[in-house]
Amino acid sequence: MVFYYFAEQYARFQDAYLIQIYYLTMSELRFKVVDEAFNRKADPVEIPEERPEVYYGKYVFNRQKMFEYLPADTFSALCNAIDNKEPLPREVADSVAEGMRRWAIDNGARHYTHWFQPLTETTAEKHDAFVEHNGKGGVIERFNGKLLVQQEPDASSFPNGGIRNTFEARGYSAWDISSPAFIMGNTLCIPTIFISYTGESLDYKTPLLRALNSVDRAATAVAQYFDPNVSHVRSYLGWEQEYFLVDEALYSARPDLMLTGRTLMGHESAKNQQLEDHYFGAIPSRVEAFMLDLEIECHKLGIPAKTRHNEVAPNQFELAPIFEETNLANDHNLLLMSLMSEVARRHHFRVLLHEKPFAGINGSGKHNNWSLGTDTGVMLFAPGKTAKDNLQFITFVVNVMAAVHTHNALLKASIMSATNAHRLGANEAPPAIISIFTGTQLAEILRRVEESPNDDLADLAGKEGLRLNVSQIPEILLDATDRNRTSPFAFTGNRFEFRAIGSSANCAAAMLALNAAVAHQLQQFKTNVDERIANGETLRNALLEEIRTLIIQSKPIHFDGNGYSEEWRIEAERRGLDCESSTPLIFDAYLTPASIKMFSDTGVFTKVELEARNEVKWEMYTKKVQIEARVLGDLAINHVLPVATRYQSLLLDNVLKIKAIFPAEKAEELSGADMDTIEDMARHIQVIKSEVTRMVDARREANRITSEREKAIAYHDTVAPCMDVIRYHIDKLELMVDNEMWPLPKYRELLFIR
Ligand code: ADP
Ligand code: MG
Repeated sequence: MVFYYFAEQYARFQDAYLIQIYYLTMSELRFKVVDEAFNRKADPVEIPEERPEVYYGKYVFNRQKMFEYLPADTFSALCNAIDNKEPLPREVADSVAEGMRRWAIDNGARHYTHWFQPLTETTAEKHDAFVEHNGKGGVIERFNGKLLVQQEPDASSFPNGGIRNTFEARGYSAWDISSPAFIMGNTLCIPTIFISYTGESLDYKTPLLRALNSVDRAATAVAQYFDPNVSHVRSYLGWEQEYFLVDEALYSARPDLMLTGRTLMGHESAKNQQLEDHYFGAIPSRVEAFMLDLEIECHKLGIPAKTRHNEVAPNQFELAPIFEETNLANDHNLLLMSLMSEVARRHHFRVLLHEKPFAGINGSGKHNNWSLGTDTGVMLFAPGKTAKDNLQFITFVVNVMAAVHTHNALLKASIMSATNAHRLGANEAPPAIISIFTGTQLAEILRRVEESPNDDLADLAGKEGLRLNVSQIPEILLDATDRNRTSPFAFTGNRFEFRAIGSSANCAAAMLALNAAVAHQLQQFKTNVDERIANGETLRNALLEEIRTLIIQSKPIHFDGNGYSEEWRIEAERRGLDCESSTPLIFDAYLTPASIKMFSDTGVFTKVELEARNEVKWEMYTKKVQIEARVLGDLAINHVLPVATRYQSLLLDNVLKIKAIFPAEKAEELSGADMDTIEDMARHIQVIKSEVTRMVDARREANRITSEREKAIAYHDTVAPCMDVIRYHIDKLELMVDNEMWPLPKYRELLFIR
């Protein structure tokens, strides 16, 4: 009887197995977990008696709670600070902290934490109890403004790309009052930014807030051409979170899933998504229970979860909320990701947020629906009713196109990661080239504006017939036939949909790059228009001339065809779009002069910050590939090869026996099939062994490199390719070895929740 190291891991999740597990072989374990998963029924969900409108936001310190728990002057001072983006006076902070503590304790909280977003792509928290000595040998629960507003987590082990030397380990977290505090479990969580002692950002929230401020300023200035009453422009985000679910028993028998988030081996199931019978299909009852439970939790935390459906691949699903202001929407997405993992456990599932958990079927993304809207209630990417509205609409759309064109390489870098790299470029996800899909109507409008800039826009907005009826755009553009799933960046009627974001990513990376790039473009646009006006042109003329220039200039980014085709790659290259496909090299786009200038002009990043962040990105890339390579090497040598040789020796045994019993010629004939299999297996085993050695050598070689960039390149060029070869041969063996001996749950077992 064999004991495998991860049986122990498995036992941690499955107490019931604690005793038997030690006596199981891996294949016995596999059958046991398959059996368990297949027999599992939906878990009950605790459905609140009240309707969502009653419990929505129950665990959020929103305006209603502020009003209830804060003195009137504190309440108005806090609202004023939030609305006008002003710092909170210290005296007010103390009073807010006291009210917040009372509210938190009334709702069962015992601890508080500054909740922040380090560069690890998850969130971080360090919990402190409210208790303090009361001077009489007992304790009292306290919380003050200082603890609320600013903390100093000893955070030397968060990635910082060299900004913080270990002897200067101080980092500060500071309350982001624009995102409300909430209670998760028994902990009051305070959304914060995270910066170094010297003021550089060490997180995603800080630069996101800077980018949102900069797009607010730049877009407001341009929107004022159309309506002087505009005083703010907000950025909105509606993400669509895709994910996979796997039964926890099966998950626990796959060390690759547990340690890397994806399967590093596994032959395709004979049936997967060919029949397209999963997408929008009936949701399995176990999954439905999970979704309902999750939505209730979301609503209690003020996350406006709205849409749920099956995705294309088996076991793949999606959740989308109602869109919100970008900073809050992003906090909510991060919160959702942790909530999902927690709720999934209650339903004996594991959530896989990895972009490509299974080869051969679709991966998961996180579409970012993005728009800008004025505080006067105008959505700037939605066509309007009048000629003036439509000129504004075209102004903003064209500026987005120009920004995306100028910064296409950077935007690609902003969504890139070791995990998302598995998804991009495959025939299912947006390709690793950024382009914009406009749809035929918008394309036609742009063409007309370009060709006859002095066309009377009233005409454009006027009659039907040959002339485009711009005021009718909403109806026309929302026509479902005019959709393109292959585009990484699509105009969808009243917003843009940035689809290349990975399912596990922090959306802030993409959102800060996009908002900053658009802000920069709008600044430039404003300067140019003002210059024309100063030279005596009319506003309308100046706008149209600048729009026209931008339409012509950004033509290469516009592509409505099939983004998956090879022709597009060639065409994109010809158009000068960034076609780099190596992740470590894609990150270089952050450090081009154009990116550095854009980020520093908009005040989002200094050069030092950009350099430090890239160090982190390269390092993370290396570590992810390194872990995968180790896990794959171990599994290949300790799990797959022993089973393969055992089966091979059974076959050899059979051949020997045939030879002992039958006359030579007959024996030759009868053992032919076995001999072929033995030879094939021997070849696969041989390649796996030598590739693992090659991979270990490549790793050793790469580890000697000191530059993070060069090391990541070495991992990409020399280590990662070995993994593909190893996997290929293991998957071949999976088809040959006796099913009863195979140690790991197979795709067909992992992928069909009942
Ligand atoms: P689909 O899958 O067809 O793209 P979904 O309904 O799944 O559409 O998701 C649409 C997402 O876009 C939702 O999160 C929705 O709130 C969001 N959304 C809709 N309008 C806007 C807008 N103007 N700005 C930002 N997000 C938006
Ligand atoms: Mg969508």
